[in-house]
Amino acid sequence: LFSQPPHSDLVYLDNAATTHKPQIVISAISDYYLQHNANAGRSVHSLASKSAEIFEQSRKTIASFFGAKDQELILTRNTTEAINGVALGWARHQLETDDVILSTSLEHHSNLVVWQQVCAEKNAKLKLVNLTLDGQINQFDLQQQLKQHTPKLLAITHLSNVTGSYQDLQALVKIVKKVSPKTKILIDGAQSAGRIKINFDQLEIDFFAFSGHKMYGPMGVGGLLVKEKILIEDEMKPWLFGGGMIDQVNSQSSTFQLDPRQRFVAGTADVASAVGLAVACDYLTAIGMDEVLKHEQDLAQYTLEKLNVVEDLKICGSTKANESNEHLIGRLGPVSFVHHKYQAHDVAQVLDHHHIAVRSGHHCCMPLHSHCRWPATVRISFGVYSCHEDIEKLVEVVTHLDRYLS
Ligand code: PMP
Repeated sequence: LFSQPPHSDLVYLDNAATTHKPQIVISAISDYYLQHNANAGRSVHSLASKSAEIFEQSRKTIASFFGAKDQELILTRNTTEAINGVALGWARHQLETDDVILSTSLEHHSNLVVWQQVCAEKNAKLKLVNLTLDGQINQFDLQQQLKQHTPKLLAITHLSNVTGSYQDLQALVKIVKKVSPKTKILIDGAQSAGRIKINFDQLEIDFFAFSGHKMYGPMGVGGLLVKEKILIEDEMKPWLFGGGMIDQVNSQSSTFQLDPRQRFVAGTADVASAVGLAVACDYLTAIGMDEVLKHEQDLAQYTLEKLNVVEDLKICGSTKANESNEHLIGRLGPVSFVHHKYQAHDVAQVLDHHHIAVRSGHHCCMPLHSHCRWPATVRISFGVYSCHEDIEKLVEVVTHLDRYLS
């Protein structure tokens, strides 16, 4: 049911980087180009009208998968572009000198470098929540910093792409609302979208960013969910300009569409990718997000148990899946480790030799690796098609690295 990898015996455990695509996603994209290709929202001919209808329907499916209203979804290329959208469309207009953005040292560079840039531009301050020694967000420090700085924005990852630790969003919101109620909350959902069910309308978070390619959709499409109020009250402004999103244009100035479904779409929309992502959402819904999460928990637990007894190997983050700290954090995949004898890239190459795909390096999380003094880590990450046998094959190789590397 999935795209054919080059080796039929491939064990693909690099799903945090990107997932493989179900055949139905690939077919939907190809059907769109073969049967309905036209520029959506431009010409009045039937083909263009059909293309616009398909685009709108796809947007609705994606928004509803995340429990959001259609008008709360801004399609982007990926998580990175979605977070940049918050920086350019919201923070640039709202930040004043000495305002604080609070993030953490656990973040992917996409949810860190952006804030460094915007804070430098606006003379604002970027503060980072400390980590525990094993690389998890220090919940006490999070509360202290919220209290001390009353930041304009808290930008925080939902599920770490290295340690697999996740925030319980309801508990997080409760704390923020109690300690610093005016702080807007941005959740980097790159790793949680497609693994944990999101009910955007029921959560008092303001922004949620995700990538389609990490949840069985195509590359080149992702999204930013924004609370309707922020859009209606014009707190967030368009950051890309051009055809499609305008109302009136004269030689020196322009006005823009009010409906967010047009206001934030400058230039030709990527209809085919939206179609593919909508099918990926339906695919996950058909499996059931509860099942997807259970499967992830099971694989994380199984991997942790197996790796815990391998010599010379240290697991990054919590060594038990689902371990929770006052219901604030828990543990899923990815499972990353440091090998005391061998470098991460060497381990990954030996695994590749056995047709086992993992990622090695800092995974775009340099501050986390520096804090924990991990030179580089090997990361194992799961998808809906991963199974115990995949992990057993990996553990067999990792247990006998001396055979290949000594
Ligand atoms: N945040 C996290 C936690 C991630 O894991 C990633 C991808 N590794 C990103 C952001 C960026 O995603 P993308 O490259 O799809 O924009």
